[in-house]
Amino acid sequence: MSSATLDRPVDTPSGSLACPHCKKSFQPAVDATQPPRLQGAKCPHCKLFVPARLVAAAAT
Ligand SMILES: [Zn+2]
Repeated sequence: MSSATLDRPVDTPSGSLACPHCKKSFQPAVDATQPPRLQGAKCPHCKLFVPARLVAAAAT
């Protein structure tokens, strides 16, 4: 048996997002209780609302 499956680089924190406005990174907290059109994360630095679609696109 080998534990190679867990041997992955973890340089970048998963789920972090760079704000398209102020360029600062933050941990997007998408409110899944909202309707799909209103789902997204708000930048804690400049209060910009980032739609969940952009959050998902940036996470890839
Ligand atoms: Zn921002």
